[in-house]
Amino acid sequence: MLIGVPKEIKNHEYRIGLTPSAVREYVANGHQVIVERDGGLAIGFTNEDYELAGARIADTAEEIFASAEMIVKVKEPQPHECKMMREGQILYTYLHLAPDPEQTRLLAEAGVTAIAYETVTDNHGGLPLLAPMSEVAGRMSIQAGAHHLEKAQGGSGTLLGGVPGVQPAEVLILGGGVVGTNAAKMALGMGADVTILDRSLPRLRQLDDIFRGSVKTIYSTVDAVDYYSQRADLVIGAVLIPGAAAPKLITRQHISQMKPGSVLVDVAIDQGGCFETSKATTHQDPTFVIDDVVHYCVANMPGGVARTSTIALNNATLPYGIALANKGLQAMIDDKNFLNGLNLHRGDITYKAIHDVLGESL
Ligand code: NAD
Repeated sequence: MLIGVPKEIKNHEYRIGLTPSAVREYVANGHQVIVERDGGLAIGFTNEDYELAGARIADTAEEIFASAEMIVKVKEPQPHECKMMREGQILYTYLHLAPDPEQTRLLAEAGVTAIAYETVTDNHGGLPLLAPMSEVAGRMSIQAGAHHLEKAQGGSGTLLGGVPGVQPAEVLILGGGVVGTNAAKMALGMGADVTILDRSLPRLRQLDDIFRGSVKTIYSTVDAVDYYSQRADLVIGAVLIPGAAAPKLITRQHISQMKPGSVLVDVAIDQGGCFETSKATTHQDPTFVIDDVVHYCVANMPGGVARTSTIALNNATLPYGIALANKGLQAMIDDKNFLNGLNLHRGDITYKAIHDVLGESL
């Protein structure tokens, strides 16, 4: 199969669909890969790296969209990219179609077969192609929080790990899923005092096993949120109720009672955020302050560490992508979890949740 990898064109998006190492895997499986010139340059993957891996370099995105049988990307295609696609062409990328009728209509009109990373499932109810970005955001949340606790960043001037003779910072993590667990690992590694709240008892038991009692696991109630938010130097918002907006666990009232200079990192901002005062921010201007509490609410945190994120994403997407290239659509017939990734087939919406939201309006 001929695989095409265009350069990402969304503002400040430096990730790329395939690393040179992933290209090599496709080539080893007998496929041809065409990569847009300088597509990975911003994160240190040169055109020569891609050529050494066996890719051909194309000067324009047009050339790639016109010739490739399968397009591998990171972000949803922009309108003029959708218009370059054609009937039966396979698109393999993050799509997020439900809130985006315009993109859905354009892809349907083009007649593409679109597989969305975010709806591929695994046997344990997880989302294996979303998990790597949650791992990145979870780890990064502590890095961002530690930085903004510094005085010059508006924080209270507290060092996460303390030093001998000085107590460490108290880190409260709301939601002990993929983001929360990775945040806890980083916070513990930096010597902080860590508490995780979750409303799933089985999850709290797992966390207790994973961390062998070195983090406090607390059942999430209004009382618990009241008590731990007042003590915290850093709060990480990492709750998720699948398919719903994030619950506003920390209210304006809580924030007015928090320690001055404490920091909130709302990772769940892409689902509306779990602090009442949150609004989405960008890597260029990541924080704002309300009631002396610093809010960090960057909606695409993994984009800030685009090199690590690209490699992590490729580790997860590669086996499915290779199966698709080797077997075509049979790869999804053979794997019901991968089939859950199919959002459009030859222009028809094949994913129920998207059809329910958009089906009649298209
Ligand atoms: P996950 O499903 O692995 O974990 C969510 C956890 O929240 C679960 O353990 C669940 O039991 C818990 N939870 C639900 N309601 C709760 C409540 N009321 N109190 C306490 N815990 C509660 O999800 P995840 O992969 O960790 O993702 C968390 C959020 O981070 C999602 O909204 C995801 O979209 C977002 N995210 C954002 C970025 C970013 O760049 N901002 C990147 C990756 C993920």
